[in-house]
Amino acid sequence: MRMTDQRRVIARVLQDASDHPDVDELYRRASTVDSNISISTVYRTVKLFEDAGIIEKHEFRDGRARYEPIPDEHHDHLIDVTSGDVIEFRNARIEALQEEIARELGYRIVDHRLELYAVPIDPKDKT
Ligand SMILES: [Zn+2]
Repeated sequence: MRMTDQRRVIARVLQDASDHPDVDELYRRASTVDSNISISTVYRTVKLFEDAGIIEKHEFRDGRARYEPIPDEHHDHLIDVTSGDVIEFRNARIEALQEEIARELGYRIVDHRLELYAVPIDPKDKT
């Protein structure tokens, strides 16, 4: 892939983000670095990066596509449905259990996604 200056800016913004931004947010951040970047450039670049396997697209049920660089180590996501916050986690028991379920069904997992949709527990409700 030819890495133009604008693509480089967008790649940097994605690399620096830890909050799974959507295109509008990527555009906002990239614009502060290079005001000549257009929203359509951001759309095209994100699609290009996705096709090249550099970034991953998520849809957390709010109608917006969000992006993150493919991480070195796999993680899953918990989505706070009240605030929209996305929390990354990794759990060895869940990973092992998924492998076990697939094996029992005669399969070997090559990829998976796990998304938990949750509301914060009110400390007063806890017993
Ligand atoms: Zn993530």
